[in-house]
Amino acid sequence: MSQIPSLDALIARGVRDQRVFVRVDLNVPLRGGAITDDTRVRASLPTLRRLIAAGARVVVASHLGRPKGKRKPEFSLRPVAPRLAQLLGAGVSFCEDCIGPEAARAVSELGPGQVVLLENLRFHAGEEANDADFAKALAQLADCYVNDAFGTAHRAHASTEGIARHVDRVAAGDLLRSELEHLRVVREPVRPLLVILGGAKVSDKLAVLEALAPHADVLAIGGAMAYTFLAARGEPVGNSLVEPDRIEDARRVARAAERSGRRLLLPSDHVVAERIAADAVSRVVSAIPEGWMGVDIGPDTATRYAAEAARARTLFWNGPMGVFEIAAFANGTAQVARAVAASSATTVVGGGDSLAAINQLGLGDRITHLSTGGGASLEYVQGLELPGVAALER
Ligand code: ADP
Ligand code: MG
Repeated sequence: MSQIPSLDALIARGVRDQRVFVRVDLNVPLRGGAITDDTRVRASLPTLRRLIAAGARVVVASHLGRPKGKRKPEFSLRPVAPRLAQLLGAGVSFCEDCIGPEAARAVSELGPGQVVLLENLRFHAGEEANDADFAKALAQLADCYVNDAFGTAHRAHASTEGIARHVDRVAAGDLLRSELEHLRVVREPVRPLLVILGGAKVSDKLAVLEALAPHADVLAIGGAMAYTFLAARGEPVGNSLVEPDRIEDARRVARAAERSGRRLLLPSDHVVAERIAADAVSRVVSAIPEGWMGVDIGPDTATRYAAEAARARTLFWNGPMGVFEIAAFANGTAQVARAVAASSATTVVGGGDSLAAINQLGLGDRITHLSTGGGASLEYVQGLELPGVAALER
């Protein structure tokens, strides 16, 4: 961590008139060409503002969606340029390509403190393939390289990994740095560490379950993945979303926790419904009856998990406790969210749906750190090296 060159150091050595290529995450949701949530644009501002103030010529690059190497207008970053300009309170020009003569001209026209946003990196197949020539073409636009795209730091792409091999002066942006600092608290926790994991699938989160079961003092499981764990114990699960081919994995995770003297908590009561729909009849049970499915943790379970949150000194939460999109099945997630917010622990919450739940309840400012990168944050707390970070350390 300490070996990662900081933005402070880069700026201190002087970036005035230098072309600084900044990889950010502007992968915003769009509907009909309008940005429906600009959280990611806002998250990129601190680093960009500092570079502008230092007189750099700022070259901003990002991906948007999954155009799979093809130029697809619905994935153009063009609509993001005016929003970025508005939030920065500065002009932002837009360039139709991220490499080649057009990009070179746009960058050469920049004066100190001016900003150009390049078109979607993923319009070129070389981006996700981490193609060396594509990485070099990007590097031709750069005297310095700053990575501030934490959400894609777990991918070795040309703009997150390859480019760093061809630019001498590199740095981590403020967002990337802050994410690593906060998530490191989960890797090296003040104990007890409570990890609350939920969401849809064991298979999505198997690696993090395996890594955290022996590491967390308490691992509390909710969401649909809980039923695979209950099935592994031989408990009735009715029609709940169980992954039969993950039952053995769940057993292994439970054994790993036990062998390490950790506690793995599963729901002891459930909200069940006959189907996942707002108008479905639901009730609270301690054993899931035939023909019913678990759609939320029950009130006793939520109280147990909340009590653990109150005792924890470090807390990591990823994944809702039930189908929180439906109000009748959102109580478990809401109760856990309130307990996390009320806890005096250092609290870190990651995952798109988990953040949505926190924000819906207006609890965002009572969480120590809201991680912007779902997959990247899970990989980092597991102790994996992120290629986008390793590239800066080299
Ligand atoms: P995050 O985005 O926070 O990482 P996930 O994407 O892993 O979370 O999981 C969120 C999804 O899991 C939500 O759409 C939610 O409806 C679903 N889910 C949670 N509990 C259940 C359940 N008991 N049955 C079916 N789906 C569930
Ligand atoms: Mg999700």
